[in-house]
Amino acid sequence: MKTFYIETFGCQMNAHDSEKVVGTLLQKGYTQVQQPGDAELVLYNTCSIRDKAEQKVFNRLQQFKRDAGKGKIFGVIGCVAQQEGDRIFERAPHVSLVAGSASYTRLPEMLVQLEAGNRRVTGLSLDVNETFDTPFTRRDNPHRAYITIIEGCDKACAYCVVPFTRGPERSRTGESVMREARSLAELGYTEIQLLGQNVNSYRDPSPAGWDFARLIANTGTIAGIRRVRFTTSHPRDFVKEIIDAIDENPVLCNHVHLPVQSGSSSVLARMQRQYSRDQYMRRIEWMKNAKREIAITTDIIVGFPGETEADFRETVRLAEEVEYDSMFIFKYSKRPNTPALQYQDQVPEEEKTARLMHLQERQRAIQMRRNGRYVGHCEEVHVEGFNMATGQWIGRTAQNKTLNFHDPELPAPREAATRVGRYLNVLVTRAGPNSLAGERHTA
Ligand code: SF4
Repeated sequence: MKTFYIETFGCQMNAHDSEKVVGTLLQKGYTQVQQPGDAELVLYNTCSIRDKAEQKVFNRLQQFKRDAGKGKIFGVIGCVAQQEGDRIFERAPHVSLVAGSASYTRLPEMLVQLEAGNRRVTGLSLDVNETFDTPFTRRDNPHRAYITIIEGCDKACAYCVVPFTRGPERSRTGESVMREARSLAELGYTEIQLLGQNVNSYRDPSPAGWDFARLIANTGTIAGIRRVRFTTSHPRDFVKEIIDAIDENPVLCNHVHLPVQSGSSSVLARMQRQYSRDQYMRRIEWMKNAKREIAITTDIIVGFPGETEADFRETVRLAEEVEYDSMFIFKYSKRPNTPALQYQDQVPEEEKTARLMHLQERQRAIQMRRNGRYVGHCEEVHVEGFNMATGQWIGRTAQNKTLNFHDPELPAPREAATRVGRYLNVLVTRAGPNSLAGERHTA
């Protein structure tokens, strides 16, 4: 059993977990293949953030079984594995491994059990205080690297499964993060993204005791690193020192993703978000008054149980007051084990849809306005790829905006010549609600 296939769903944390799982398997002498049919070990890294997540997993497992054929070992890992546990063996008896992310440090040991013929291998304990630090990470992107600095979540938002699927908050030591970032710089990485469910709740467990603001400030001083990003922040632990650190060092990207979820304090209280609208707006004020212009993005849930028309109008009013650069809007969906599951006054589906579409429309106009301000200005982009369909290079600004552009000197990648990984100046000529367009600026 030395070939494996892995399929990953969900957030950047899951994507990076898979990079570490792949690295661990390669280090154990496995070979990664691109088709489940060609693999002896088929792994499925799952996400349980949305409704029907479990059903999707079981449907995919049935498909795997059909397509991949006999004699395969199937493993379900990640958030649905942790949430469903042994139930997965009952509903999909062809599965032999069920492990949550809090057990990945035991992956080598679980592999040995599988290789020894054990067909009911589990890693489901949440009683952990360690993070999945491994030197064996096989990264998908050669230019921008994820670094997980904190895992789990101690908050208990009433709609969220994460505390039940990823366990308690536990931070890596500042030195281990710096060591990883330095080794990435030596490998030629120029951009790193610090990850956590609540990245700003980071607290170095070593005597150094760095907080998040200190960690990003230190990470921003590593030679060779040109951009440091971080996601996702929680408003309750978002302190002014984070903005000061961004203001002091241009290596720290001037973009903050700060999920608000609702503009109504009464809905925020029912969501157990641990901040009010005013407390949230104070953090927005810090960003609006920063020396550098900070792009602000957010997440919003519409149709949370008990959300009245007036509450929803509060959310729309907040969106217009903040003028976010972009926004992820989700309809509330019931999740297992969460307090909101028991809340009585569930909002009808069609009403949720109406609110989602209304907010999307208002936000689209805001984004058009905000992006329009960049036309005629030059922006530095980190080139991420080339779009064959449009014949444009794909760049990303420090504010996390997509800027697609033409480069007369190299209209398209050829032989060894590419722009991917380079930092180039681009003159913005057009703006859309979700991206910018331009021409390479060589003056
Ligand atoms: S802060 Fe809330 S929404 Fe975010 S991961 Fe924790 S429980 Fe979930």
